[in-house]
Amino acid sequence: MENFKLGAKVSWVTVGINMILGVFKLFAGVAGRSNAMIADSMHTFSDVFTTILVLVGFDISTKEANDQNSIHKKYELLFKKLFGIIMIIMGLFVVYDSLKLLIFEKITRPNTIALVAALISIIVKELMYWYTIKISRKIKSLSMEADAWHHREDAFSSIVTFIAILSSKSGLAPLDAIASIVVSIIVIRVGSDLYNKSKDRPIDEAITNEIINNLEIIINEFYGVAGIKSLKSRLFNNGIYIDLDIFVDSNISVKEGHDIAKSLQYKIENELSNIKHCMVHIVPNNK
Ligand SMILES: [Zn+2]
Repeated sequence: MENFKLGAKVSWVTVGINMILGVFKLFAGVAGRSNAMIADSMHTFSDVFTTILVLVGFDISTKEANDQNSIHKKYELLFKKLFGIIMIIMGLFVVYDSLKLLIFEKITRPNTIALVAALISIIVKELMYWYTIKISRKIKSLSMEADAWHHREDAFSSIVTFIAILSSKSGLAPLDAIASIVVSIIVIRVGSDLYNKSKDRPIDEAITNEIINNLEIIINEFYGVAGIKSLKSRLFNNGIYIDLDIFVDSNISVKEGHDIAKSLQYKIENELSNIKHCMVHIVPNNK
């Protein structure tokens, strides 16, 4: 439970920082006349949405979540649809504006504030990576590790924005608008994914359920495993991340317990190709 609270705390900190960063980047993008920076801020807002969805438990499928009541499900679909539409509209807006700029208007070079904002974004995102990865290792949470890597991807995307703004400032004026279109397409894609997930039962969720059933069979039949305490799964970048707590005989040595966990992890990751990573924790079975 402590780990769960710490995990939620990290996610709320992420939402808070992304919110401030997003507003700052939007301001810098408008004031600095950089569509690339505006698109980058849209991406940050989309991160706020997706983290909130995870926080309210929509993206984590635990055993309890599988038989969640219909009200919860209804809100989940509603939020996904709403966030999806907002992201698509934001993305399309920037694409439209950039195309208009590229085709019909005289392109002005972005101001320094946009460049500074990109630099701040790179630094903040990298710091968020380190903060999140440190705690994910402490509480051994793979879903949090995935979040950490997302922050680093964001840092890279801000590096691309930085390069685009810099090139635009130093003569290659259209690059800022072109980069903004690329980033906006990413935002639109995330938005449409979210929207599609809100329709009926998402197909990837059905696949996940089948994989989880197979997984449970493998675990329960595995030598040395006395039962499953908890099994949490999370979809990220088309891969499934598993957090698994298994019971083992409380009289075996630490080494034996460790060996069971290691070999089970190896078996799961090799036999089920959709599972990107599996973390196995052992719990003594006091019966
Ligand atoms: Zn992101």
